Amino acid sequence: MDSKEKKKRENRQYYLKNKEKIKEYKLKNKEKYKETARLYRLKNKEKIQEYRKSPQGIKSHTICDWRRKGVIGDLDAVYDIYLATTECMKCSVPISGLNKHMDHDHETRLYRAVLCNSCNIGNPLDLHCHKSNKSTGIKNITKRKKRYGFEKTTKKIRHSKYFKTLEEAIQYKEQYLSELG
Ligand SMILES: [Zn+2]
Repeated sequence: MDSKEKKKRENRQYYLKNKEKIKEYKLKNKEKYKETARLYRLKNKEKIQEYRKSPQGIKSHTICDWRRKGVIGDLDAVYDIYLATTECMKCSVPISGLNKHMDHDHETRLYRAVLCNSCNIGNPLDLHCHKSNKSTGIKNITKRKKRYGFEKTTKKIRHSKYFKTLEEAIQYKEQYLSELG
């Protein structure tokens, strides 16, 4: 590990340890932070654009995005796997660009595989509504701890109901949707 990488890890550890304090401080000094960031962006416009297009820039943007989605673990290592993967780990089609996804387990929040678009969407192991699709009948079905739920928002009104089994949730969903017409 080079010194730059080491420093980065130390910073990250410091951040995780003092997360709440840092959040509080940032919130208190929100305007100051905003202004500093704005001035920095203005002064370093070209430098930032260049960085965004660089491999390091793309990497940090991608990892940031994963973290925002709630993925935890050693994402530097996951990124290396992600980068090196050229075929879907499930169906073996060549993957790249927009047809390449880092799949994670929504319960453990850890990396699971690198998949093509259709394997990522149609993964029946995944009951997260964001990834559900029509063909598996799990659209609008989510899993919370050990319960399966049907969740739907119609005209800003959120309707949800939870069941012990996936089958019950799907059955309820079908009934609910047919009543909606
Ligand atoms: Zn695939």
